Amino acid sequence: MTKTLRPPLISKSSYMAGLQCPKLLWHKLNEPEVFPEPDALTQAVFDQGTAVGTLAKRLFPKGLEIGARVIDKRMVDELSRAALAERRPLFEAGFIAGRAYARADVLVPVGRKQWDLVEVKSSTKVKEEHIPDVALQRHVYEGAGLDIRRCSVMHIDRAYVRRGGLDPRKLFARTEVTEEVEEVGGDVAGNLDEMARVVDQPQPPKVKIGPHCFAPYECPLQDLCWKALPKHNVFSLTRVGNQAFDWYHRGFLRLQDLPRDEVATGKQAIQMAAIRSGRPHVEREAIGGFLDRIEYPLYLLDFETVGPALPLWNGSRPYQQVPFQFSLHVVEAPGGKPSHHAHLAEGRVDPRPEILARLKNLLDKRGSIVAYNAKFESQVLEESTEAYPAFAAWWKRAEPRMVDLLVPFRNFHYYHPDQLGHASLKNVLPALTGRSYEGMEIAEGVTASLEYLRVTFGDVSQAERRHVRAALEKYCALDTFGMVEIVRKLEELVGDQTPRPEVRARRSRG
Ligand code: SF4
Repeated sequence: MTKTLRPPLISKSSYMAGLQCPKLLWHKLNEPEVFPEPDALTQAVFDQGTAVGTLAKRLFPKGLEIGARVIDKRMVDELSRAALAERRPLFEAGFIAGRAYARADVLVPVGRKQWDLVEVKSSTKVKEEHIPDVALQRHVYEGAGLDIRRCSVMHIDRAYVRRGGLDPRKLFARTEVTEEVEEVGGDVAGNLDEMARVVDQPQPPKVKIGPHCFAPYECPLQDLCWKALPKHNVFSLTRVGNQAFDWYHRGFLRLQDLPRDEVATGKQAIQMAAIRSGRPHVEREAIGGFLDRIEYPLYLLDFETVGPALPLWNGSRPYQQVPFQFSLHVVEAPGGKPSHHAHLAEGRVDPRPEILARLKNLLDKRGSIVAYNAKFESQVLEESTEAYPAFAAWWKRAEPRMVDLLVPFRNFHYYHPDQLGHASLKNVLPALTGRSYEGMEIAEGVTASLEYLRVTFGDVSQAERRHVRAALEKYCALDTFGMVEIVRKLEELVGDQTPRPEVRARRSRG
């Protein structure tokens, strides 16, 4: 452990870490080397926050940037104190008060002496955790001698629709939080004293794992604190909630070891029985009922989407999921060979018109449109056709044909012990069919979005772009081919019991 000569300052992020868990705080300030490198998603969230912050600054045209590249806190404090006399909006002004340090997104001068504090967030509303964050800042700035009049959070207005260039005046909403901050302001000094005491200990405090490992932020030190969990661990029980922590602390790691009366009924009991027997749970009648509702030809559809805080295209809102890719397998009749269609947007133009036009052509006028968690695909199409109303009438006719393949799994009409309590496609497909995403370069949706953005808007070589696009095609195609296989497996499971003759006839018609 390396110790600095001066005790470390408690910054805003350290304060928030300390509120979440004292052990997290201790490691942050004493052993930062135990933290893993941020993964691609964490980095993307961070980069997005930076882009949002940069755009927000345009609302303060006379703003003065304080040592953007300076990281030495005492130097930032000196520069900031010197800048106060300018009476201009200050970006990233940082001050030290006692053991605490905070850098403000924006300090806005009011009259001759006062300041308003503005904290910029990428969220679409003020969140609970923003209040102690702003309270710490206010405590520090007041401790440094500033007179803070009001505090507000500048966040994104979800109702904003991009028309032309991004307009920060319409994109951002500002919510005053002065009262809420005052309510918790009295706790800050005591919290800081306690945190300083923790940080100055030679060893990390002993803290049990608990729900705080995930809220308000996912703790990056889980590898350090959590015991290696067995496959069927207590946290993998469906809808288990905080009960799993109780079991964990009582020494139960494996679900199989729990006393039988601890898990009562319903889906949890189905999961437990499947683990104990090592065999899947199958409700043939209910699965048959589900299959009765689907009509051939089947159109198995999956989208990949992007939903950035700062909308990329006209007619889209912050965080709106805009499709850039689809995969579609079409099966004409039960047992038939599927045909495959796919689309991956080229270039930086809005992908929606071409995707809508292609789907309108491909989806024909009858047969079920099957998606896994179909609510998502429906919403993507609904919102896309709002932006391109020429397709609205088509979608209105097509929408009742949507069928959700998640339903029999969400309802545990089928449950395989290898699903580990989950009903997502990524869990069901390998458990039911043996086909998995393992070893694929792109193996889940978030990576697909980030990679699409990187090779479409980033500075990458043609060869790299081609390579990533091929991986995207492969990934999306497996999602829908997987659905073909799942439907087949369900049909095999119900065998001759269903479909009812008239349904079978309807399915094979044409
Ligand atoms: S994993 Fe949990 S117990 Fe460990 S440092 Fe993080 S929040 Fe604290």
